[in-house]
Amino acid sequence: MGTKAYELVVGLEVHAQLQSATKLFCADPTAFGANPNTQVSPVSLAHPGTLPRLNRSVIDMAVRFGLSMGCSIQRKNYFARKHYFYPDLPKGYQVSQLQDPICGGGGLHIRSQEGEKWVQLHHIHLEEDAGKSLHDILPDYSCIDLNRAGVPLLEIVTEPCIHSAEDAFLFLTKLRQRLRWTGVCDGNMEEGSMRCDANISVRPLGQEKLGTRVEVKNLNSIRNVRRAIEVEAQRLIGLLESGQTIRQETRHFDAMRGDTIALRSKEEAEDYRYFPDPDLPPFMISEDQLEKIRVSMPVMPEALCRQWQEVYELSEYDASVISAEKETADYFMAVLAHTTKAKAVANWVTGPLKQYSNEQQLGFDALPWKPAQIADLIELTESGQVSFSNASTRLLKACIDEPGTNAIELAKALNLLQERDEGALFTWVDEVLAAMPDKVREYKSGKKGLIGLFAGEVKKRSKGKADMQMVQKIITDKLSS
Ligand code: ADP
Ligand code: MG
Repeated sequence: MGTKAYELVVGLEVHAQLQSATKLFCADPTAFGANPNTQVSPVSLAHPGTLPRLNRSVIDMAVRFGLSMGCSIQRKNYFARKHYFYPDLPKGYQVSQLQDPICGGGGLHIRSQEGEKWVQLHHIHLEEDAGKSLHDILPDYSCIDLNRAGVPLLEIVTEPCIHSAEDAFLFLTKLRQRLRWTGVCDGNMEEGSMRCDANISVRPLGQEKLGTRVEVKNLNSIRNVRRAIEVEAQRLIGLLESGQTIRQETRHFDAMRGDTIALRSKEEAEDYRYFPDPDLPPFMISEDQLEKIRVSMPVMPEALCRQWQEVYELSEYDASVISAEKETADYFMAVLAHTTKAKAVANWVTGPLKQYSNEQQLGFDALPWKPAQIADLIELTESGQVSFSNASTRLLKACIDEPGTNAIELAKALNLLQERDEGALFTWVDEVLAAMPDKVREYKSGKKGLIGLFAGEVKKRSKGKADMQMVQKIITDKLSS
């Protein structure tokens, strides 16, 4: 890293598209993937004579998310016009918030390798999205799709308080989890419903004044944010080391080449000529509305995680896997409504169910098993009637094919009930031990590992039906007497 030590400073700006069926100021639909320019009314284009009208459900979402991040909520709000020219903005201005954004402060804890850290937010504000310029459709022209114009966004802005690419990665991962948890945004970076710009600077270690920053755009995955910060930090340090000055500029991350390219310099301050939008009256958030949202807030994942470790004695790992997504957490709790065997439920959720969900690319809200069915399977394995391996493969599959039949009937029909009759088990064990006198002698003289061999033979004789826990115990008892 050269002779001097440098400190990396990063501030993130995240745009999260709110999951509203219609746009911020009109009833145009917001669905992703429609044919270009099919979701555009004159209001989206601000044609003369049109009047925007605020979609109040969006305000609830912004407040909901703000509360989940511990923000203070601005009660008296207004929208401002931010003017600039760009082909994907035919209105000539973007409706945004300037002073007094809807949410102030707040933040998130992240768990980095060096321990817990706090990422402080500066604010969160509401704004409308612009359209999209498409440069790869016609050879000599750019195309513009305005379906996205007017879609509601939350812009989440952090303080310049992140000091490594890894911490930025952790923060964004957790922020996306929170956006999904509160149901305000699907967090899909590939479809652009969550977008991130990274402001990056470096300064000699110990220097208080922030270095000149560059802003890297077009980061379409959380991994790419981490990569971009890594390469950009090295590039900035290289510039300082070779005595050059850093220009404030906007850069583009090229994911294929893994480097950044200058787009435009930001030396002169832009003048957006902000003013309050005269077509949109200020809007208030009443105490009543705030209270309604407060009481409807879901318990946050960190709290669930702690609670599960304390009450159900789950491992920290299991608790964090299960609380990573709300659908998974909800499923876990739904199964727990039918059984008290919390640890077994956790094993099923993090094991066979998660595997199925990954393989089929289905969320836990779309699994083919009702939580009560899983609880039945758990009762069968916990009582020793069916082995875990049979239950989690053959029986689980049978439950999809025959959703109406209960688990014990299916187990019987598939001949999966374990033999737990002591008489039968004793007979098999006696037969096996009698057939292997040499091995029995070796076992008695200390080769305890042979228990696996004996048990395996019993399993064969029982055609896989013997309850292996009981078999192990019977063998051990017999050979120690
Ligand atoms: P703008 O609105 O022009 O993008 P802001 O002052 O609002 O500028 O800052 C935007 C983001 O840049 C914030 O996340 C902030 O934390 C971050 N930021 C500001 N200065 C620096 C810096 N010197 N180094 C790294 N990040 C910075
Ligand atoms: Mg910016």
